[in-house]
Amino acid sequence: MTGSTPQQDLDRPHDLVGVGIGPFNLSLAALAHGVPGGLAATFFEQRPAFHWHPGLLIEGATLQVPFLADLVTLADPASPWSFLNYLKGRERLFPFYFAEKFHIQRAEYDAYCRWVSERLPGLHFGHQVDSVRWNPERKLFEVDFTQLDPDGEAAALGRAYTRNVVLGVGTEPYVPEPLRPLAEAPGVPVIHSADYLAHRDSLRAAGHVTVIGSGQSGAEVFLDLLRSRPAGAERITWLSRTEAFAPMEYSKLGLEHFTPDYTRYFHALPEPVRGELMPRQWQLHKGIDAETIAAVHDELYRRTLHGGWPDAVLTPGVRVRTAGRVATTQVELHLEHVQQGTRSRLTTDAVVLATGYRERPVDRMLAGLDPYLRHDSAGRARIDEHYRLVLDPSVTGSVYVQNAERHTHGVGAPDLGLAAWRSAVILNAVTGKEPYPLPRRTAFTSFGLDAREAPSIPSQERKLTPLVQH
Ligand SMILES: Cc1cc2nc3c(=O)[nH]c(=O)nc-3n(C[C@H](O)[C@H](O)[C@H](O)COP(=O)(O)OP(=O)(O)OC[C@H]3O[C@@H](n4cnc5c(N)ncnc54)[C@H](O)[C@@H]3O)c2cc1C
Repeated sequence: MTGSTPQQDLDRPHDLVGVGIGPFNLSLAALAHGVPGGLAATFFEQRPAFHWHPGLLIEGATLQVPFLADLVTLADPASPWSFLNYLKGRERLFPFYFAEKFHIQRAEYDAYCRWVSERLPGLHFGHQVDSVRWNPERKLFEVDFTQLDPDGEAAALGRAYTRNVVLGVGTEPYVPEPLRPLAEAPGVPVIHSADYLAHRDSLRAAGHVTVIGSGQSGAEVFLDLLRSRPAGAERITWLSRTEAFAPMEYSKLGLEHFTPDYTRYFHALPEPVRGELMPRQWQLHKGIDAETIAAVHDELYRRTLHGGWPDAVLTPGVRVRTAGRVATTQVELHLEHVQQGTRSRLTTDAVVLATGYRERPVDRMLAGLDPYLRHDSAGRARIDEHYRLVLDPSVTGSVYVQNAERHTHGVGAPDLGLAAWRSAVILNAVTGKEPYPLPRRTAFTSFGLDAREAPSIPSQERKLTPLVQH
């Protein structure tokens, strides 16, 4: 739903105001809609409508999680906002039944979420939230926003009052320092994979194209471009800093790291142990799904059928030291092979930066809350097990976060599979009741020892064991 809400409605205190409407706050809105007795909830999104990663809805690309990881089902399978109910509403349940696809296409997930966003009350698109402050007199948060016109220009200012705020502002594309000047300069296409589809034609037409980054997006973009290049004249290079084009962990026990049980376990760990564990778990959320890796190899193999090798260079373990323009039409990448300690230069006509995403910074938006915010030893916000920012006790309202808590809750933070569960945890905390009873156990793995059984080990004796043992 778009359009503005009369200010007098916004003056009435809300139970909950959501900032950002990506999948996670959309899940929250859908489950909030089902809370018995209702919740006064409103959500603001700066974009004019819901669109999920439009630059990477490559034909045939699928979700990395099963369709049950929709907005609501893992907390409320009877919700009218489930994926299956969407299919029913679209009279597509039988085709889906016979399709037997557990992993749906990204384009279908995007369409499903938009279907929900167009029917749920209380969602305001074209509204950018500028600041969140605590009003000690009214014991409420003040959420200031700018309503944007269809061209994205500021049209009106507004303020909403609320007892609780939920930040679901998601992530933004990340460009490594050495490549930033290039990405910002006009001329030669140097684009982040988040904008791939908008630039696909010019990338396909480029004489030579380079893809940087070995995550899922990097693999999908490389495969899509490779398929468009003439056999024997592919002129395409794929570089990655990681030591290998490695598969994402997808074993059934490995996936139990994306359960509420593991999230609870991780949150209870001492901060230094969490800090050490995160980088070691890269294969749980980075890497490439096995099907895509196989498709890349299949395509390369297919191109050898008539003899010769494709003109495609795939090199892991390479760091881009610096990059510059050659004349106005080409880019020169200065490369360093970390293990070999060798350096070389690559001249290319276009670059796709599949270099990932970073949590969208909220410092400016929360500047007014600074005096109340509590931080950990690395200066990051402290977040409790209910996804609440730890604030000075004088603040009687709560600010919750979604997908900004990897440092406190672990690898599951950006995972769609935990969307409904996290929304339910937040709504149970906001209502102080249990509109969504949650499972006490969700994994076969028992993470950690039951403290009652074993005496605790003094921290300096704690030594982490590697994740995989041969
Ligand atoms: C290409 C891609 C594919 C992915 N596929 C999967 C997958 O298959 N499975 C999986 O588990 N995870 C996947 N992920 C990870 C994750 O699920 C997604 O990133 C997901 O979109 C995160 O949802 P979100 O709601 O946190 O944020 P986002 O989708 O980033 O949405 C946040 C929203 O907040 C809005 N916003 C920001 N600031 C403001 C403001 N000040 N005022 C108003 N609005 C604001 C933004 O405009 C945006 O719409 C994928 C990620 C990417 C990039």
